[in-house]
Amino acid sequence: MGAPVVVIGAGLAGLTCATRLAEQGLAVLVLATGQGATHLAPPLLDVLGYVPDRVEHPFAAVDELAAAMPAHPYARLGAATVRTALDWFTTTVGGFVGPGDRNLLLPTAVGGARPTAAAPATMAGGDLGRPRRVGLVELSALRDFHAGLAADVLARGGLVQEAAALRVATPTGGADTSPMRYAQLFTETEFIEAVVAELRPQLSGLDAVGFPAVLGFDTAERVWARLQDSLGVEVFEIALPPPSIPGIRFYRRLVARLRAAGGRVEIGSPVRGARTDQHKVIGVRVATAGRDREVAGSAYVLATGGLRAGGLLAGEDGRVREPILDLPVPQPPQPTGDLPVPQPPQPTGDLATSPVEPRLLAGLAVDDVGRPVDADGRVCFDNLYAVGATLGVAASWRELSGHGIALASGYQVAGSIMSRSQQ
Ligand SMILES: Cc1cc2nc3c(=O)[nH]c(=O)nc-3n(C[C@H](O)[C@H](O)[C@H](O)COP(=O)(O)OP(=O)(O)OC[C@H]3O[C@@H](n4cnc5c(N)ncnc54)[C@H](O)[C@@H]3O)c2cc1C
Repeated sequence: MGAPVVVIGAGLAGLTCATRLAEQGLAVLVLATGQGATHLAPPLLDVLGYVPDRVEHPFAAVDELAAAMPAHPYARLGAATVRTALDWFTTTVGGFVGPGDRNLLLPTAVGGARPTAAAPATMAGGDLGRPRRVGLVELSALRDFHAGLAADVLARGGLVQEAAALRVATPTGGADTSPMRYAQLFTETEFIEAVVAELRPQLSGLDAVGFPAVLGFDTAERVWARLQDSLGVEVFEIALPPPSIPGIRFYRRLVARLRAAGGRVEIGSPVRGARTDQHKVIGVRVATAGRDREVAGSAYVLATGGLRAGGLLAGEDGRVREPILDLPVPQPPQPTGDLPVPQPPQPTGDLATSPVEPRLLAGLAVDDVGRPVDADGRVCFDNLYAVGATLGVAASWRELSGHGIALASGYQVAGSIMSRSQQ
């Protein structure tokens, strides 16, 4: 086999790109400093949630957004590619409900509602699209989820017909009461049976029961099905603040899929720089055990994330730069006068009114096949591509578009590399 495609970054964008390439028989090597936002964010496939009003039909809204914002990553990708990418992902990884034409509307841990195009089957049953009487489970030692508060806000927001908090005091068997500990406990039959026994007398009149998203890792779908059977109501998981147990679950699944297709993943391999000639990237410099080594590839995919992941860095002057190749980064307009006053979060969890910090909009601009370009639209390096949160312009945390952009750009760049490898 020839030199691999080197993907830098193991977040959703890099892993999507790498997995699609490996499935098509290309040699792929993923180099990453650490895991990406998969371990922090729920694995909800958010295409578009707010523009700024809540979006009902995400793919139709992608086309509208593209027409209004030609520099947005979705304008280049188009709704059809976004849809194909999600279909590919949900089929490849398995265990998802959606995408349909409408967004699901899922309860948040504080009783809000958030739209998403597709969700793991263990979470999708929380869809608030139909009136129901819902019970929310409080695992007494778990600090990240207060069922009483969430139930109260859901009911007051009219998002459910009725909401109640259900208490579970089954002990964790030690001082560790973290979501990771509960995920471990939900692999144990004895613990599950004790939880079911505590819940049964509290279920009268309820249609569905929401658990904090700690139902385990590899066995979560079985645990979820077992809880539904034992309780006789629909069961769903509600996403918690980081770390994300279901996020880790799907990260593991995606990496297993990539490895099964022959791809290699090296976590703990930060890329410090690159050797280039005028037209191409020749190799990247990887820091390993105190000394650097050069890794050569046939093509390179920058999937290093945005400012939060270190894929982009902001200087004291507010300018944003790309640290591996010093690629040109279009800067967002600098605020004149005072920064916007932060708004309090809306009770429905609506992000549409949150202020935009301009530097979070900075990021790479790319050509039609996903290669970074300079201010004049010239391709920086013939064999270098960029995907995911390294791309600029999208206010992804506000639009709820980060996962859609990561998936669709990773999928599209894999296609670009495959078709060029066949030429
Ligand atoms: C807490 C949190 C919650 C979020 N919630 C949502 C949500 O609900 N919905 C949504 O749509 N989006 C959400 N997002 C945003 C979304 O997760 C991202 O937009 C998207 O996942 C970005 O994926 P990515 O692969 O581009 O980057 P990331 O997932 O950030 O991955 C970047 C990867 O690059 C690696 N890396 C960086 N620099 C180097 C280097 N020099 N060498 C080697 N590797 C490097 C990192 O280690 C990591 O593996 C959230 C983000 C966070 C942080």
